[in-house]
Amino acid sequence: MSRNQPANDIFELYDLRVEVICPPGERILCGAKAGDHFTLEGEMLHLPPGQGFSIYSLDAVLPLLAAKQRETHLNDWMSTDADVACPEPHCKSLLRITRTEKRSFSHGAVTVVPLQAVGGSVHGTEQLVERKDKLHG
Ligand SMILES: [Zn+2]
Repeated sequence: MSRNQPANDIFELYDLRVEVICPPGERILCGAKAGDHFTLEGEMLHLPPGQGFSIYSLDAVLPLLAAKQRETHLNDWMSTDADVACPEPHCKSLLRITRTEKRSFSHGAVTVVPLQAVGGSVHGTEQLVERKDKLHG
């Protein structure tokens, strides 16, 4: 922990499981089998040994994963909706995103940008402006 980090800089993210749902009797065109899945812990994606995952299917869920990892408002559709259509238009498989458990992370372990100081000064913003000035002037 850097000397500028407060003692408690912990935040939590949900671990996610993304599982392929294959309706019985439907032809699957994206190379998936029912139950194929990956898990996401922080920024790390894990596949079971020997199992693949379509890059097109991954592309369909990727924009949603960072939001799904975070606590969202109960009325937000991001809180309720979990199924994403396979991007292959003739494939009936779904990709189901499930929040599993929460995992704790230290702000100081994942970024060099300091936390916002209590009382109004935004050190992170100042640092960005300072870096921008160095780049442009
Ligand atoms: Zn599919």
